[in-house]
Amino acid sequence: MTSSETLLQVRNLKKYYPIRGGVFGRKIGEVKAVDDVSFAVKKGETLGIVGESGCGKSTTGRSILRLEEPTAGEVEFEGADLTKLSGEEMRRMRRELQMVFQDPFASLNPRQTAGSIIEEPLIVHGLGDAKERKEKVKELLSVVGLDSYHAGRYPHQFSGGQRQRIGIARALAVNPKLIVADEPVSALDVSIQSQVLNLLEDLQETYDLTYLFIAHDLSVVRHISDRVGVMYLGRMVELADRDELYEHPIHPYTRALLSAVPVPDPDAKRERIILTGDVPSPTNSPKGCAFHTRCPHVMDICREKRPEFKDQGSGHFAACHLTEA
Ligand code: SF4
Repeated sequence: MTSSETLLQVRNLKKYYPIRGGVFGRKIGEVKAVDDVSFAVKKGETLGIVGESGCGKSTTGRSILRLEEPTAGEVEFEGADLTKLSGEEMRRMRRELQMVFQDPFASLNPRQTAGSIIEEPLIVHGLGDAKERKEKVKELLSVVGLDSYHAGRYPHQFSGGQRQRIGIARALAVNPKLIVADEPVSALDVSIQSQVLNLLEDLQETYDLTYLFIAHDLSVVRHISDRVGVMYLGRMVELADRDELYEHPIHPYTRALLSAVPVPDPDAKRERIILTGDVPSPTNSPKGCAFHTRCPHVMDICREKRPEFKDQGSGHFAACHLTEA
């Protein structure tokens, strides 16, 4: 259940990658993969982050866990700024913050059995003796809907959905508080997707988990999230409670994204907004509002001034000059 307590507070997070060129490999530019992103995740909630590929949503997740070192910003988790922790402190903190990856096949070592994959984090964090760890692995397999005999099998002997269950069991092994799930169902068949989403929901209830759920699929994000943030070109452009965002989107980019999602009711009319122009490169992010090159409502100010990401009322955040008009 979502509480009012904040578990994770991200402030002004930036992740820039230098571009080097010339004979001396000098820095000639930078890719602004995450460009000044701020948001909070409450204890027990699922915050979905949605956006097209390359919008910086995965880099945001990875920078929070410091799988990528952030360029700037703060990531406050239970009172500690993760960006300031030493390597050793961060390793210990990883027990609390786990990640579930998109491609379960790539993220599981093909030469390790499912049992040893799930046991590994317990060994890394020095939890339990060999017997206790075996018991824990058995319990985790059953929790994610697998059988104990699966412990002796290798990743290639499982289906995609089962492999993702192993990835989830591995993340759960150390009793984390926060799980960053990066496109956890996008590599799976649609029929399997909802089973894995339902499993994640059940586990959240049982283990009091908080999720940061990153995906490009708006329907998947709607299914699982309590609140949803929309990213475009490294920036968070809108964030609100799920139903509020899907029913009353403010930002022109969110409106365009949602207009492309099929509506279940054939009588419900929704005008499709076709965006023209390509997504600009994050190496050459437009001045002002990053969306101005494609926005159907662009004004002069949009080309000059970056709109502030601010609360438009009742926790519905948006960054758009239209809200100031
Ligand atoms: Fe469009 Fe301007 Fe709003 Fe950006 S700030 S989304 S360009 S209206």
